[in-house]
Amino acid sequence: MGHAKVPDPKEEFLGRLLRHYITDAWRDQAVRERLSWYYSVLRDLRPSKFLICKEVACEDDPGLMTEAQLWREHGRLRLEFLNRLREFREGEIPSERSQNPQFSFLDVKVELLNRILRKCVFCEWRCKVDRVEGEREGACHLGSTARVATFFRHFGEEPPLVDRHGSGTIFFTSCTFRCVMCQNWDISQDPDAGAPVSPGNLSLIIRSLRGEGAANINFVGGEPTPNLHIILEALNLTSVNVPILWNSNMYLTREAMQILADVVDIWLPDFKWGNDRCALKYSRIVRYFEVVSRNHAIAHENGDMIVRHLVMPGHVECCTKPILGWVAENCPRALVNVMSQYRPEHFVLREPEKYREIARCPSTQEIGEAYAYADQLGLVWKPVS
Ligand code: SF4
Repeated sequence: MGHAKVPDPKEEFLGRLLRHYITDAWRDQAVRERLSWYYSVLRDLRPSKFLICKEVACEDDPGLMTEAQLWREHGRLRLEFLNRLREFREGEIPSERSQNPQFSFLDVKVELLNRILRKCVFCEWRCKVDRVEGEREGACHLGSTARVATFFRHFGEEPPLVDRHGSGTIFFTSCTFRCVMCQNWDISQDPDAGAPVSPGNLSLIIRSLRGEGAANINFVGGEPTPNLHIILEALNLTSVNVPILWNSNMYLTREAMQILADVVDIWLPDFKWGNDRCALKYSRIVRYFEVVSRNHAIAHENGDMIVRHLVMPGHVECCTKPILGWVAENCPRALVNVMSQYRPEHFVLREPEKYREIARCPSTQEIGEAYAYADQLGLVWKPVS
């Protein structure tokens, strides 16, 4: 993973102090335009997408449908959902707002996820294990229970995500990647870290974070993807309005993306490797570029987005430039965080000889080259980097 690092208290304090001096991110016109949906939910001017999903009525009990029927119903209800979303975007309040239908579009999504859990294909490992029966042989080593390592209002994220009172960040344990330089390896590589959370507990956490003023709910890890079924069930129990943020390695399957795309208000995807060779060597993952670029394109079609790219030492030509080029061409509305803070961690720190090429921080020249290339491509990166 390369997302939100669990900070130590000293770093957290310094982060707060720093935020105090940061100019209001919303004064930037490009930020306002590109994150306009997220901003409107953050300020309670629009309902979060998951709340709109809950208004779209399903005529029959999803629990009685076959999986094929569920997918058909999902496709049908999605058209109605997109209609409502468009009306909200255009500033209209839909004339027929069905409050609390007996069964909703979100119920269909939850039911689909519970069926998929029996032969899990949440991510492109496509393990097909029965996680309901407690099989933990998948690459994430998780059964059906979600575990949370910690949660708090995080002040170290990008300024629009922190806003005034921090990003309501929830760290799930385990991951679908095995990055040799993982900065949160203690929670990402230990599926038994943290404590189990039920959908009801998770909903309580969401409500309490928003009650404290959190700008958004930031699902991260480890990786949130294996916990998709608990996350959507928790949202189904939640009525408080809050932007939903997906902070992920983006290795989800197309099926999982289809279900998730309608509930995420702002995406915070991590685009790490510019080719499959580097991905396999350092994250132990196959088909990286194809899967992750496909999902970035789906996310871009479906919401506001800040792409994170961590500049790795010795990887400007093979990773940074191809990624920035791809984002400029395929996700023109995205803001891009070109991150300079890489430092050796986990295996790279313990076995620097083995990973000599990434056992150092990126040089000032490498970071400068990444910034210059982002400028050359016309990317908007400064307000969030
Ligand atoms: S979430 Fe991914 S890694 Fe975990 S069991 Fe499902 S397909 Fe496998």
